Amino acid sequence: MKESPDAPQNPSRRELFKLTFGGGSGLALGGLLNVPAMRAATQDLKLSQVSEFTTSCNFCSCGCGMVAAVRDGKLLKMEGDYDHIVNRGALCVKGISMHATHASPQRLTKPRYRAPGSDRWEDISWEDAIAKVAQKIRKTRDETWIATEKVDVSDLVVDPAGDARMQSPPKFVRQEGGLSEVPVNRTDAIGFMGGAQNTNEECYLFQKAARLLGLAYVEHQARL
Ligand code: SF4
Repeated sequence: MKESPDAPQNPSRRELFKLTFGGGSGLALGGLLNVPAMRAATQDLKLSQVSEFTTSCNFCSCGCGMVAAVRDGKLLKMEGDYDHIVNRGALCVKGISMHATHASPQRLTKPRYRAPGSDRWEDISWEDAIAKVAQKIRKTRDETWIATEKVDVSDLVVDPAGDARMQSPPKFVRQEGGLSEVPVNRTDAIGFMGGAQNTNEECYLFQKAARLLGLAYVEHQARL
C-alpha cells in the first residue's frame, strides 16, 4: 500500500504502544527502531512519583538488561533497557513475562517447611529457615566427608627421560607401587546452585563459600 505524504513522522501514543508491545523489541535489536525518537516520545508518558532502577533478567544467563519502575516500594512494571549493551531493549518471551511472575498470587514470599512424615507445608521465618539449612549442611557434610582418596597416579608421572622429552611430547609412565592416597577434602552429597540474577560479586562470594565447604558440584540455573 502506498504511504500518504501526509502520514505523521512521529509515532502517536497508540502507535508507540503497538511498536513497544507488538514487536518493537525485535526491531530495536535489529537496529531498525529509532531509539532516541522512541525515548523522546515516551518522555511525557512517565508516571509521577515513579523511580526507575536498572536490573537484569533472572531467567537465563544472557544477562538482558531491564528497567524496573517502582512507586512507594511497589514494582509497577519491567521492560527492556534500551541502553543495555546485551539486548538494546529487547526481551524474549520469558523476559517479557518477568513482571507477571513477580505479581503472581501463586508466588511464594516466605520460606516453607514440610516436616518429615508430614503431608503439609508450613510457613516459617527466615531465621528458622537459615538455621535449618545450616544444620542440614553441617550434618550432611560431616556424614559424607571425603578426606582422602586412593587414585591411580601413574598417568601423572612425567617420564624423566632427559633430552628425549625435548624432541617429543612428554610421555607418561606407570608409577611403582600402585594406588596412592591423596587428600581431596570434599563432599559429593551437597550441590550449590547460583542463578542469572546474581552479580559477579555475589558469585565470587558464592564460589568462595561453596569451595570452603568442600563442594565440588557448583552449578548455574541456566545450564539445567
Ligand atoms: S530469558 Fe530472555 S530476556 Fe531473560 S536474559 Fe534470557 S534471553 Fe534475555
